[in-house]
Amino acid sequence: MLVDTYKTKGMRQTLVNQLRAKGIVDERILEAINKVPRHFFLDSAFLNHAYQDKAFSIGEGQTISQPYTVAYQTNLLNINTGDKVLEIGTGSGYQASILIELGANLYTIEYNRKLYEKAKQLLHKLNYKAHFVCGDGSQGFAAAAPYDKILVTAGSPTVPSILIEQLKEGGKLVIPVGDLQSQQMCCIEKLPHGETKINLHDFFVFVPLLGKFGWKGL
Ligand code: SAH
Repeated sequence: MLVDTYKTKGMRQTLVNQLRAKGIVDERILEAINKVPRHFFLDSAFLNHAYQDKAFSIGEGQTISQPYTVAYQTNLLNINTGDKVLEIGTGSGYQASILIELGANLYTIEYNRKLYEKAKQLLHKLNYKAHFVCGDGSQGFAAAAPYDKILVTAGSPTVPSILIEQLKEGGKLVIPVGDLQSQQMCCIEKLPHGETKINLHDFFVFVPLLGKFGWKGL
């Protein structure tokens, strides 16, 4: 059952205050986090943990990202209403809901069929509209390219050039890149004449990006 009580609303407000204290200052992002009931995306056994600033298991060996990480990546993306966005790694669908709250026209791709089905059903129930794809997002999703923004929510060994190809000129790719232990947040802007500008940010720990241009052998 999907119930949002005064208690869960209160816990969410506390989480928002914590994120503000950790340096997330964009009120639009904080408002979106305040609006989306994160406990809907976790097993009901985790109700009392849903508003801790931590990652949690969502089954299939995967996790829902930590709220701080969701806010951090969303902030780098700088979503404008109507932006066509590709999210790689739908997972629970939580990050997707935040992007939709911010007005993204969202395409979201998930490798694991069970998670894809589950997230698609949940977002439908919550009336969040997106284009759901089940497949290997390390290759992007060419059928709907080009995108204003691409967000990778799994750790990648490299920046797959195919993702830059699927960006519009002036578009942005946010992707955590590193080894399996830790990854540095990279923000890549696609400039005119095939040039790119890369900005490097903080280190995080993500589950691995699988597939052709991810950690192939895993
Ligand atoms: N954005 C998610 C976080 C999910 S964790 C959320 O808000 O809950 C990363 C997800 O990426 C996992 O669900 C994993 O199955 C998925 N993933 C890993 N490799 C992938 C690939 N090549 N294509 C699409 N999804 C992938």
